[in-house]
Amino acid sequence: MRGTRDILPEEVVYWQQVEAIAREQMAQAAYREIRTPIFEQTALFERGIGEATDVVGKEMYTFRDRGGRSVTLRPEGTAGVVRAFIEHGLHTQGVQRLWYIGPMFRYERPGAGRQRQFHQLGVEVLGSASPRADAEVIALATGLLNRLGLSELRLDINSLGTADDRARYRQALVDYLTPYHAELDPDSQDRLTRNPLRILDSKVKRTQEIVQSAPNLLEYLCTDSQQQFAQVQQLLTDLGIPYQVNPRLVRGLDYYTHTAFEIQSAELAGQETVCGGGRYDGLVAQLGGPATPAVGWAIGLERLIILLQQRQTVAPPELDFYVVARGQQAEAQAIVLAQTLRQFGFRIEMDLSGSAFGKQLKRADRSGAVACLILGDAEAQTQTVQLKWLLSGEQQTLRQDDLPSKVHELRQHVTTARQSRP
Ligand code: ATP
Ligand code: MG
Repeated sequence: MRGTRDILPEEVVYWQQVEAIAREQMAQAAYREIRTPIFEQTALFERGIGEATDVVGKEMYTFRDRGGRSVTLRPEGTAGVVRAFIEHGLHTQGVQRLWYIGPMFRYERPGAGRQRQFHQLGVEVLGSASPRADAEVIALATGLLNRLGLSELRLDINSLGTADDRARYRQALVDYLTPYHAELDPDSQDRLTRNPLRILDSKVKRTQEIVQSAPNLLEYLCTDSQQQFAQVQQLLTDLGIPYQVNPRLVRGLDYYTHTAFEIQSAELAGQETVCGGGRYDGLVAQLGGPATPAVGWAIGLERLIILLQQRQTVAPPELDFYVVARGQQAEAQAIVLAQTLRQFGFRIEMDLSGSAFGKQLKRADRSGAVACLILGDAEAQTQTVQLKWLLSGEQQTLRQDDLPSKVHELRQHVTTARQSRP
């Protein structure tokens, strides 16, 4: 279906690598994983993300279920996490550092790194207004991307100030843009009344020219907002994280206050933004919870995976043993043997064909296994098994009953054989 894609086993190994590194990074920074439902009441997103945003206005997968309720496939992770935070009273348990990973859904025009079902990895820190929380989440994102081998990242930051700062700026921006109304692109004309800040990141050339001389958001920040922003910048400098202040950076979603940031990669043509985030001090209260400051980000995993595939190959985990068997009794013993060895932690593939030994052994060679276990009628009768080391061709006969007591020896042999492989 348009905007969706299958991730086949060869690609899944890349996803697994990203997931494994992400899990480790999150654990190191004391973030805990949260899993929320893939669909929620439509009202959650309307209230949380804002009716005037592109996401709510035209990108949501919304439908009625059989009970007549309006439900929506989540277009992003924050609203659901905040709902869960409120519903389970997590605000009583100190600062919450949470992360999530999973599919998101937006009805938009598909292209490279842009799909209708896509995946995000995200973090949310709830309960801290400290600029250190902003710096911590940014460092977590850049650290993760660096660890995945991505360099040439560009971090843009901005401050949207408080809701008041933003309202004053909004007015100034509308006053500035209104005389240009006829020259703006149709999307921006529409945004002028609904969501004027979004005009700042229009991709249309003439609109960009007009916006060049628009009032500067940073000049509308109150002293307190300015100080907070200065502290975030100082901390990034202390952390050795390069950044640039971009006063035209705004985020698509309505709930952002103070710090907003985006990380782009020069290596991604077209869809360069890998990570977007910022502070959203108003959202928890807006969704009916106690006033709670919060900051977070989301990384688009499809874009990350595209970059990874360009630069490295990830091999799937290798097999230890390939089991070859022929004859009713031998095949029955082989399945038991394979299962027993798996319980000791070996990776084992069993040939299910029942075809001639020669054919099965060829498949064993191609399987990448280190050794092959062979059972025919003779072995079945004597309750033995042939163990053939595929690299050296060396072969030995073992009693099936003896295998559990030889596990340690076998494991060592597997390791040395694998290491000696060209
Ligand atoms: P864009 O401007 O590219 O539409 P956005 O501002 O809508 O991005 P966010 O809501 O901030 O994106 O989501 C964070 C990240 O999720 C993005 O930076 C991007 O990497 C990824 N992302 C967003 N939408 C999609 C999509 N349709 N397909 C794939 N990845 C996406
Ligand atoms: Mg978008």
